[in-house]
Amino acid sequence: MEPRDLSGHVAYQAGRGDEEVARELGIDPDDLVTLSSNENPLGPSPAAIEAIRGAASSVHQYPKAAHVDLRDELAERWDLDPRQVWLAAGGDGAIDYLSRATLDPGDGVLVPAPGFAYYGMSARYHHGTAAEYALAETDDFELAADVVLSAYDGERVVYVTSPHNPTGAEMTVDGVRLVAEETDQRTLVVVDEAYGEFSDRPSAATLLDERDDVAVLRTFSKVYGLAGVRLGYALVPDEWADAYAKVNTPFAASELACRAGLAALDDDAHVEESVHVARWAREFMRDAISAPTYESGGNFVLVDVGDADVSQDPDDAGAAAAVARELRERGVIVRDCTSFGLPEHVRITCGTEHETRGAVETVNEVVGS
Ligand SMILES: *Cc1c(COP(=O)(O)O)cnc(C)c1O
Repeated sequence: MEPRDLSGHVAYQAGRGDEEVARELGIDPDDLVTLSSNENPLGPSPAAIEAIRGAASSVHQYPKAAHVDLRDELAERWDLDPRQVWLAAGGDGAIDYLSRATLDPGDGVLVPAPGFAYYGMSARYHHGTAAEYALAETDDFELAADVVLSAYDGERVVYVTSPHNPTGAEMTVDGVRLVAEETDQRTLVVVDEAYGEFSDRPSAATLLDERDDVAVLRTFSKVYGLAGVRLGYALVPDEWADAYAKVNTPFAASELACRAGLAALDDDAHVEESVHVARWAREFMRDAISAPTYESGGNFVLVDVGDADVSQDPDDAGAAAAVARELRERGVIVRDCTSFGLPEHVRITCGTEHETRGAVETVNEVVGS
């Protein structure tokens, strides 16, 4: 008795957490600066913590009204019908719902390379296939409509990540519109705006008023600091509204998550401060890091460490692995982008001012100048 053939599947590689690394180095996790997973360095909104505490004593019950309340609140904010808001267990859960709602066996999705691994993973779980469009390092990983369209071959779903992880590049709303216009009518363009709040640009959600082939993904994991409760959503075309009931996993967006989400949405001060800190940190990193960096609309900066003067283990894939290891030994955890297909780049999350200044100093020691 065996599982189905999973040889085409890949395992998700998360950024390494501080407890894991601290255990390995034999030090206190508090002595580490973890800038590897694009988490909010300020933590969750205090109001969200309070909401989770308040709901704790009723977790023996199945979720009740919070799911509907949160859906309605989001619909109002986005000016959409509540049925167009598909709440899920994280943005990843929302990607699964879109896969379930779109893919017949053998259908393809088109994903960015380098890019977020879960798009392809989800497609394969749902008996689909994934093809890639290449973002060119020589063009600073520019995220232009023609880059996507030149690789497009009738796929059922096209993913655009804007701001893009791990490069930070962005696509304009006009660019997204062009992709939607130039692809088949039955192709859904999914714009993943997991980092949308950190950007200065408008959301592609405005396209939901004019088109029926664009969906937008959002998450509570990044600016809202709620990665641990797993909460995200898709905004889907009006015509799709009824499909949710047929594809969602019952109660996957938990009562605790939805209550935390409602509280976090209302805490404007926490959101503003989070965005402010991230914008400061990404500009600071771009100015102060001695290796080449890329413009970023997110809460992270991609750094080219290809010329870093580090000794590389024979089994290290490239400079990124060596730099990440060297930084880790000095207490700074960054994301080695080898698993994104970038063996010479690391991604550094925006920390607090103190964390970011310290990390940049350490990075410059390691990469040389
Ligand atoms: C973090 C992230 C998500 C969503 O993550 P969840 O924690 O599942 O909400 C989605 N897309 C990208 C590109 C991300 O970086």
